[in-house]
Amino acid sequence: MIKTRFAPSPTGVLHLGSIRTALFAWLYARHNDGKFVLRIEDTDRERSTPENVDAIIEGISWLGLVADEGPYFQSERYARYREVATRWLAEGKAYRCYCTREELDELRERQLKSGAHVRYDGRCRDRTEPRNGVDPVIRFKNPPSGEVIVNDVVRGRVVFQNAQLDDLIICRSDGSPTYNFTVVIDDYDMQVSHVIRGDDHLNNTPRQMNMLAALGVEAPTYAHLPMILGPDGSKLSKRHG
Ligand code: GLU
Repeated sequence: MIKTRFAPSPTGVLHLGSIRTALFAWLYARHNDGKFVLRIEDTDRERSTPENVDAIIEGISWLGLVADEGPYFQSERYARYREVATRWLAEGKAYRCYCTREELDELRERQLKSGAHVRYDGRCRDRTEPRNGVDPVIRFKNPPSGEVIVNDVVRGRVVFQNAQLDDLIICRSDGSPTYNFTVVIDDYDMQVSHVIRGDDHLNNTPRQMNMLAALGVEAPTYAHLPMILGPDGSKLSKRHG
């Protein structure tokens, strides 16, 4: 069964580029007698507003892009994300990181100065003791070496080196889950077969594929669509009128 999804974040008004992406996902599902899922990615509690959610739901229904499933709200799925994070901690696929902002800033500065790639160095990977007064984040243990190959339907074969990716934060210190983590769990749980989204997410794809591998499941097919640009070649925005 072909299943696509439209997964906007309600952190701003519905963007024309997002609508175009949704159109492709909807058409692909319709063409293949598949299903089209609407998922509201509202884990950024501060910037997500009910008005923006309404604009998404009204906007796509006005356009006739009827969803077969959803809207699902990520904010209602925290228990599920927590369950996976807890399991990964137990399985050694994730770890608690107690680094302070100062330590991370210092690391970053050192890497910038030496011309090294700026990335978290995994220093808490083998840490067993908590640190008093620090609420830890949870990081995913990204494979340290090897490559991730994305066979993108639009872009072709795109190769990423694991050495360039770091151990991504999957839960913030307040326990809230982060974007790449929730997307992976949702795309899997919702049995999305084709992830059709904007080009701006291509760099997230190897991270997401590594996490899908940690879940022991196959990655969906990816199709990254070019962004709509303004006449000046930059991403279309309100500045363009
Ligand atoms: N929520 C993301 C966004 O609005 C999209 C996530 C995705 O399509 O994987 O940019």
